Amino acid sequence: MTRALAMISGGLDSILAAKLIKEQGIEVIGICFKSHFFNEENAVKMTEQIGIPLKVVDFSKEHFSMVKHPKHGYGKNMNPCIDCHSLMLNYTGKLLQDMDADFIITGEVLNQRPMSQTKHSLDLVKKESGFSDKILRPLCAKNLTPTEMELSGLVDREKLMDISGRGRKVQMELAKSWGIKDYPSPAGGCKLTEPNYSKRLRELLNHKDNPSVKDLELLKYGRHFRILPDAKIISTRTQIEGDEVKQYLDKEDFIFFAEEFNGSMIIIVGEPTEEDIEFAAKITARYSKGKDEELVKVKYGKFMCPLDEHIEVKPATEDEVNKYIL
Ligand code: SF4
Repeated sequence: MTRALAMISGGLDSILAAKLIKEQGIEVIGICFKSHFFNEENAVKMTEQIGIPLKVVDFSKEHFSMVKHPKHGYGKNMNPCIDCHSLMLNYTGKLLQDMDADFIITGEVLNQRPMSQTKHSLDLVKKESGFSDKILRPLCAKNLTPTEMELSGLVDREKLMDISGRGRKVQMELAKSWGIKDYPSPAGGCKLTEPNYSKRLRELLNHKDNPSVKDLELLKYGRHFRILPDAKIISTRTQIEGDEVKQYLDKEDFIFFAEEFNGSMIIIVGEPTEEDIEFAAKITARYSKGKDEELVKVKYGKFMCPLDEHIEVKPATEDEVNKYIL
């Protein structure tokens, strides 16, 4: 039986591409990738809707090396989509033999994205992946030169599509006809496409060539203030955020809470000076219900230890916040 590996991003297009090929009686196995910047959550939900198995590939290390120095540069934010797609295709190509599969499917649509899905970019990605003869793009195949899979009759070209451009109407109708609901927005789920996250990542890379997993994970939470080249204050915004952040902290990190008011948990990662501790306390006061008070009492200490240090401070002013916030 013919078998295809479908690259599943977690968005609608890749799942439609997989379903289109499955409808031809071809066995389809989903492949999705996880890294520091995206995970398999949406891909799992989407593949369940069309009933195909999913293999998750963790390529965090290699992906991050590429994100730091992408050969073809970045998109609007820190998203190096051309290099990222090529890398994913290369990994998937290498799985073809192991998984006894015949070709690869992607959900790319010609001209859907201004930089990464032009004809030139699609050709480039194909070439750079090292598996150009094995890549089929079912949603826009009829706009492209027929592939080996179509010419040999492995795939019926007549049943492929000719979608082009940024409109979503055809995809939404197709999803409706197949009962696919609940799909995320295009490119949803990749932190590298988010302006704020990208700004913080760029700033982090300016300070550290090799950030740790902790550094990268913490970028996803709260407000960040750079106080020293190797130290930062992070203010969590909700209780849930505070609880999630704790999994990345270690006993060298400081945490702060306002003593008499509800508010954010404030963290210092890195080695602070006494001045930094005072500033973190001021931030704690600022992001508490006591922000309009003259003075606010703050308790602090090392993570996982009793918070038995106390300091009374004026809440940080807007100017102070703006000076350090990233
Ligand atoms: S949006 Fe993110 S995951 Fe998708 S290709 Fe671009 S960088 Fe990679």
